[in-house]
Amino acid sequence: MIKVEAVSKSYGNTLAVKQVSFEVSEGENLILLGTSGCGKTTTLKMINRLITPDAGNILVNGKDIAKEKPEVLRRGIGYVLQNTGLFPHYTVAENIAIVPKLLGWEKEKIKSRSNEIIEKLHLSEKYLSAYPGELSGGQQQRVGLARALVTDPSVLLMDEPFGALDNVTRTSIRKEFKGLEELKRKTMVMVTHDIHEAFELADRICLMNKGEIVQIGTPKDLLYKP
Ligand code: ADP
Ligand code: ADP
Repeated sequence: MIKVEAVSKSYGNTLAVKQVSFEVSEGENLILLGTSGCGKTTTLKMINRLITPDAGNILVNGKDIAKEKPEVLRRGIGYVLQNTGLFPHYTVAENIAIVPKLLGWEKEKIKSRSNEIIEKLHLSEKYLSAYPGELSGGQQQRVGLARALVTDPSVLLMDEPFGALDNVTRTSIRKEFKGLEELKRKTMVMVTHDIHEAFELADRICLMNKGEIVQIGTPKDLLYKP
C-alpha cells in the first residue's frame, strides 16, 4: 500500500505540489485527475523517488521511501509511461527482459515468465521477436505494461498510460485493462487528464488543481456529493 503524507514540491518559484495527502490500498486504483500542470506527474514521480519532495513523507508497503535505496524501492514498483519508453532497437522480448536480467534471473525463468505475462496481456507470443516499431500503438502500450509487470511488483504507477492512443484503441484497451487478472492485487496510482477515463477506471479519484487536492473519493462520491 501507499501512504502520502503532507507532501510538497517546488521548482524554483513554482509550487507544483502543495500539502498533498492520500492513501492507496492493495488492489485499489487511485486516479490523479486534473488539467495539465496541476501537479499529477510530480506527485507520481515522488512515489518512486524520481523526484524528492521538499516536505512530507511517503510510505510504500509500510516503509519510509526516503530511507530506502532508490534502486531497491523501484524493484517493487512498476512504472508505465505515455510514450511507453520502449527501446526501439530492442525486440519486445529484450525490452521485457531488461529488469529481470538486472536482477540476475535465469534465462529459463525470464523466458517462461515473459511468455506468461505476454499471454496475460492478450498479446500473441509471436510478437516477442518483433521490434516495437512493428507493433500498433495499442500493442506497444501492452508491451509497456508487460515490462512493468514482469517482475510482479506490488505497486504500479502509470502516467497517462493510454494517452498516446487513438480514441477507438483507447476505449477498447481501457475495457481490457479493467478485467486484467494480473492487476487484481496491485496497489495502483494512475495519472490522467481524461475525466471519462478516470470515471471508468478509478476505485477512487483524487481531483487536483494548482498543486492541491480539491476532492477525493469514489466516482459516485464525486458525482453525487459536490
Ligand atoms: P501535470 O502532471 O499535472 O501536468 P506536473 O507535475 O508535470 O503537472 O507540473 C506541475 C507544475 O510544475 C507545472 O507548473 C509545471 O510547469 C511545473 N514543473 C514540472 N516539472 C518541472 C521542472 N522540472 N522544472 C520546473 N517546473 C516544472
Ligand atoms: P506531462 O504533461 O506528460 O506530465 P510535461 O510535458 O509536463 O509532461 O513534462 C515533460 C518533462 O518536462 C517532465 O520531466 C517535467 O518534469 C519537465 N517539465 C515540465 N514543466 C516544466 C517546466 N516548466 N520547466 C522545466 N521542466 C518542466
